[in-house]
Amino acid sequence: MEFPLYDVLIVGGGGAGLRAAIAAAETDPGLKILIVSKVYPMRSHTVSAEGGAAAALRPEDSWENHAFDTVKGSDYISDQFVVETFVREAPVELIQLEHWGCPWSRDPDGKISARPFGGMTTWRTCFAADKTGFHMLHTLFQTSLKYDRIERLDETFVTSLLVEDGRCVGIAALNQRSGVMSAVRAKTVILTTGGNGRIYAFSTNGNICTGDGMALAYRAGVPLKDMEMVQFHPTGLPSTGILITEAVRGEGGYLTNNKGERFLKDYVPSKMELGPRDIISRAMVTEFEAGRGFAGPYGNYMHLDVRHLFMRELGLDYVGIDIVHDPIPVRPVEHYMMGGIDCDITGATSLPGLFTAGECANVGLNGANRLGSNSLSECLVFGAAAGRAAAHQAQEAKAPTSNPVDALLKDETRRVEKKYLESRQGTEKLAEIRVEMQRSMDEHVGVFRTAEGLKEEEKLIAGFRQRFARLKIEDRSHVFNTELTAALELDYMLELAEVMTASAINRKESRGAHARRDFPKRNDEHYLANQIATHVPGGKPKLEFRPVRITHWQPQARTY
Ligand SMILES: Cc1cc2nc3c(=O)[nH]c(=O)nc-3n(C[C@H](O)[C@H](O)[C@H](O)COP(=O)(O)OP(=O)(O)OC[C@H]3O[C@@H](n4cnc5c(N)ncnc54)[C@H](O)[C@@H]3O)c2cc1C
Repeated sequence: MEFPLYDVLIVGGGGAGLRAAIAAAETDPGLKILIVSKVYPMRSHTVSAEGGAAAALRPEDSWENHAFDTVKGSDYISDQFVVETFVREAPVELIQLEHWGCPWSRDPDGKISARPFGGMTTWRTCFAADKTGFHMLHTLFQTSLKYDRIERLDETFVTSLLVEDGRCVGIAALNQRSGVMSAVRAKTVILTTGGNGRIYAFSTNGNICTGDGMALAYRAGVPLKDMEMVQFHPTGLPSTGILITEAVRGEGGYLTNNKGERFLKDYVPSKMELGPRDIISRAMVTEFEAGRGFAGPYGNYMHLDVRHLFMRELGLDYVGIDIVHDPIPVRPVEHYMMGGIDCDITGATSLPGLFTAGECANVGLNGANRLGSNSLSECLVFGAAAGRAAAHQAQEAKAPTSNPVDALLKDETRRVEKKYLESRQGTEKLAEIRVEMQRSMDEHVGVFRTAEGLKEEEKLIAGFRQRFARLKIEDRSHVFNTELTAALELDYMLELAEVMTASAINRKESRGAHARRDFPKRNDEHYLANQIATHVPGGKPKLEFRPVRITHWQPQARTY
């Protein structure tokens, strides 16, 4: 069988994936480009971003300030060369988006507006009302439609990367509408599959954020980087994890404890509500432990008081509170994965032919803690870089033949069908394993960590994986079998939960979002480094530290 062949195949139709597709098409209009996405692109998680995208656009700002804030925010394990490139490119990308039609909000004088965000020393977060992600994604999606050479396979779930002779030669994927497995050959593949927040019980992430691309790359032998670095956002709704955007604090919302105090004065006195997310999340948990939180059915919470401000819809719809009269209950919830697929500044990974960008990648921008609003800009800057680099490589690369792809697809189809649809021996329920994994990750690999809790989690995950091997899939249909895709996703999440826990055990210090109670201090002597995790088939992840690149900014104490 002759499988379709593309020059650049992008897995993911979110901000990073669409930006990469456009960049590839612009680099060489003759290339054939394909976007494969498990949901219709406009449903990607990028759509839910409200707050904004950071860029030093205003005259009082500078790329140096943006770079320093990002490096300090990362607790000094971002790659400073990557940061410099990012802050110089971000304004160019935002203006490019403006030219493609993104309706950025404006000041009365017509200039693009900016608002303050956590950890940023100046107003640099550009926004499009309270729907920045929606408008950015819409702009990118519409722009992608202009290019005849960009084709799409929507609602197609990628189950593995096809690797032959040490090169990525395409993907195997399940067409969710027909239930048929098929292969697509590609000279280059770009993974832009987003975050993995659903590994946690309380997360701001959409249900589709299950870390698929990270697990796909890892299993294909590409290392993951800094997987212990998970961002908790201080203001999620306690019941659902739905995010109350940081812009609410940017615009003047207060956080108060059960004494009615703005407790952040004791933790981030100079920044208060505009401190970075890791420090505010820790301050909240510390206050809960001192008995100064409010008790609720989903654990402790604080008040986010905007009675002197605005913004009613989320409060009314999701907690039945009119925020004009009452404060909003909020607690720290999982929000963003700093860790991801190890890649260089062009998005290239260690596997020839494979590139990556966006939240699933770790290019070295965010280090141990991402500053809010850097991520949307990261998707643009490094999505474009990966698209260009993949296009250049595709111009030179030979087309993979159908022969090995055919054999690889047969293996993969057998694996998926046999393991999930044909096996009738299973007894374990998917949802039970998933909920237990999510709750235990919240408990042991959350805002604060200890060796004891992490070791306990390691054992639990080994147990979940054994139970997963005895999974019973009740739904054996082929058309939109969401139980099957949920099982594939849980398989990815268990793999990543193991890597995250092992990485957290191995970093015996506190830095950025990784707060060890048993090692409360940052230890630059040993850990001013990125942690690289490599897959060992049948064994535990292999972990090693790699020194971080420092250009201008030597580590200092991270106080605000
Ligand atoms: C509620 C919320 C608010 C946020 N607000 C902001 C903000 O204001 N500013 C900011 O900078 N950042 C914000 N972030 C973070 C930021 O939005 C994300 O990091 C970013 O949008 C991720 O984009 P992406 O393109 O990498 O991935 P996504 O937008 O998540 O897209 C992933 C794509 O991969 C596809 N995919 C995944 N797995 C598979 C598979 N197995 N097969 C096929 N396709 C697959 C999906 O279908 C999807 O198209 C927010 C995040 C959340 C959750």
